[in-house]
Amino acid sequence: MSLRFDGKVAIVTGAGGGLGRTYALELAKRGCKVVVNDLGGDRHGTSASSSMADKVVQEIKAAGGQAVANYDSVEFGDKIVKTAIDNFGRIDIVINNAGILRDVSLLKMTELDWDLIFKVHVKGAYAVTKAAWPYMRDQKYGRIVVTSSNAGVHGNFGQANYAAAKSALIGFANSLAQEGAKYNILANTLVPTAGSRLTETVMPKNLVDALKPEYVTPLVTYMVHESFQESGKLFEAGAGWYGTIQYYKGKGKVISNASADDIAKNWSTITDMAGAEFIGTISEQSGRLMALLDENESSS
Ligand code: NAD
Repeated sequence: MSLRFDGKVAIVTGAGGGLGRTYALELAKRGCKVVVNDLGGDRHGTSASSSMADKVVQEIKAAGGQAVANYDSVEFGDKIVKTAIDNFGRIDIVINNAGILRDVSLLKMTELDWDLIFKVHVKGAYAVTKAAWPYMRDQKYGRIVVTSSNAGVHGNFGQANYAAAKSALIGFANSLAQEGAKYNILANTLVPTAGSRLTETVMPKNLVDALKPEYVTPLVTYMVHESFQESGKLFEAGAGWYGTIQYYKGKGKVISNASADDIAKNWSTITDMAGAEFIGTISEQSGRLMALLDENESSS
């Protein structure tokens, strides 16, 4: 086992089951001290219990690892970070994994369906990361993962609330990647697919059984290791496949003083992806726009 985490402390939110449990077990196996956070509620974000987190802590301890349970909802991120500091004296890794589903079409969506999804996924990731940030900044070391979804990347029928929240997390991590760069705080986004109690309502049982959460675990483990140097990127795992999702921008077309008719006339060129370029950061994008403005000015 060459990727070790001795001396490091991780918070894994929603680690009482599903994907989070596998991350907590694997990190602890590799020498990391782990705060196993889980509210222990149902998949719709109601009710609470301490038993889910306790069970995972027992599993870790039985295997010789070090872990402590925390039962707070992720929106109270400061309490979760306090558990790490009080018990282990530092915080190096935050895996924002806790999640719920409230799938319903927009027509039937209630304020509660929208607000609860944002409270757990977006406010939760913000609150835990925000509380950990000063420690990471002071020690000039941090590894942060947020959990998005293919629904966040592509949208999904009946998941406007969840897809919007999962998409928000991509912007959140990409911004933290820029703010954390000079402090060696790296932030990345994970897009997982796995059988779990969240997916058992939307997938057939044989698929839920086949898509083991353990297929996702190795990628996340590497993403929070000190040897990992990527930041502001999206990585995907599921069914034993590992890859990346990146944004490419088409070459498009410069049209001076364009009218709507010009846009319509040139639509196939505007949307052509031949020769598309990878745009990694917003400063690359601004640089591109400035160059176009200069070009426009010198040709007019
Ligand atoms: P899961 O339901 O097994 O795990 C989520 C855990 O989060 C649960 O144990 C739950 O008790 C906990 N939790 C919920 N609300 C919480 C809160 N407010 N505070 C603390 N803990 C809370 O589901 P999973 O499939 O393992 O999902 C893990 C993450 O991966 C979620 O963010 C989910 O949206 C995301 N995801 C999963 C898949 C998939 O295919 N399973 C796909 C895309 C994204």
